[in-house]
Amino acid sequence: MSTTPTGTISRRRFGLLAGAGFATLALPTYLRAQDKAKVVIIGGGAGGATAAKYLAKDSKGALDVTLIEDNDTFTTCFFSNLYLGGYRDFASITHGYDALVSAYGIRKVTGMAMSVDRAAKTVTMADGAVVPYDRLVLSPGIDMVYDSVPGYSEEAAQTAPHAWKAGPQTELLKAKLDALTDGQNIVMVAPPNPYRCPPGPYERVSMMAHVLKSKGYSQSKIFVIDPKPQFSKQALFQEGWEKHYPGMVEWYGPDVHGGIQSIDVAAGTVETDLDTFEGALLNIIPAQKAGAIATAAGVAGETGFCPIDAASMRSTMDEAIFVIGDASIAGDMPKSGFSANSQAKVAAMNIRADLTDSKAFPAKYSNTCWSLIETDDGVKVGALYEPKDGKITSVEGFVSQTGEDAALRKATYEESIGWYDGIVADMFS
Ligand SMILES: Cc1cc2nc3c(=O)[nH]c(=O)nc-3n(C[C@H](O)[C@H](O)[C@H](O)COP(=O)(O)OP(=O)(O)OC[C@H]3O[C@@H](n4cnc5c(N)ncnc54)[C@H](O)[C@@H]3O)c2cc1C
Repeated sequence: MSTTPTGTISRRRFGLLAGAGFATLALPTYLRAQDKAKVVIIGGGAGGATAAKYLAKDSKGALDVTLIEDNDTFTTCFFSNLYLGGYRDFASITHGYDALVSAYGIRKVTGMAMSVDRAAKTVTMADGAVVPYDRLVLSPGIDMVYDSVPGYSEEAAQTAPHAWKAGPQTELLKAKLDALTDGQNIVMVAPPNPYRCPPGPYERVSMMAHVLKSKGYSQSKIFVIDPKPQFSKQALFQEGWEKHYPGMVEWYGPDVHGGIQSIDVAAGTVETDLDTFEGALLNIIPAQKAGAIATAAGVAGETGFCPIDAASMRSTMDEAIFVIGDASIAGDMPKSGFSANSQAKVAAMNIRADLTDSKAFPAKYSNTCWSLIETDDGVKVGALYEPKDGKITSVEGFVSQTGEDAALRKATYEESIGWYDGIVADMFS
């Protein structure tokens, strides 16, 4: 396969590529219906839904846009910690695809994409259906590397949920959290870098502590066993834990716990060099890699994630494929819903420039991650990014400070509510 890290493909060249694709394929009638260039997006989450919407909306019908997503609805991981904390209900973080279909004419194919034939430019679905594309966007999110934690597995996740993909896992974690009695402990195993949502585990600790505190529990503890020596917004979280939940949260970095030897989900134990931690609730968040379809398509590198051109989000391994969101290696950008949404717009703009008469402008990206520590105590970290020396690079950043007053923290939390409403509307309506 050819490698084109930068630039767009000339329209003449695209015509040749597209022509070759159409000539070799025997397509079902519904897929031959239109003579427009075809863009297929795999993954209808933060990145994929945004990409589908902006491709369809901004091309004003010039592109044939198909969104492949395994589920009928999408539950956001963002604000799933607030669901755990009792601030949101499950329905409020779950969104459908009807508006994307009815307002923008996007074709939604519900099912699992199993493989990509890059030579033929087709995606094969679990039911055997074949979907052709001229450009393919991959936004499959992450998969868990279960065996990165000795003793953990997909099956064990039914007892000790990771809840790092929102849905039944999140509901399971909430049910287990709500069932705890005073004196029962929680043990979280935090993930190693790189992983989805750097502040996410620590916001989750805060929300679990909030639930225990709200019930008046004074004996329960939350142990965090972390493979990382430090974590996102650490000073802010640790200040907040001391202020709101004194004595409840104990965080152990690798220099203290010495390494995770094994976990036993039936016994509720996490064994480290230092000690064996016991919990009635284990929340095990393993290492992560790009969703399986990225590896199946052959566009994931050795790290398990996908290298991209920083100016366009185009795969460095295939000029007809764009990888956005958590599956991509996006330089300084964290893996977040905000980042995926921002990257999707850059990819959509470059795909329209490839396939229609529109122009691609220089890429600009942005992200902010808000976290709630306790009621009305919100903090944030964020930055603007641009491609520099082949990498998406932070050009301007900001982070909440320790010791901020309550009014500012409340305003930060309220800002996050506005952000959530705005970004899910930007993705799904
Ligand atoms: C606890 C937690 C809190 C978070 N909080 C925030 C936050 O406050 N702010 C923020 O910006 N981000 C937050 N995030 C991160 C955010 O959820 C992710 O970074 C974001 O969802 C990534 O978008 P994506 O498009 O890459 O993947 P996803 O949003 O996960 O979407 C991937 C989609 O692809 C589908 N899919 C995968 N493979 C296939 C296939 N082969 N065929 C068909 N469909 C497929 C999946 O079903 C899924 O719907 C949080 C994450 C967690 C876990």
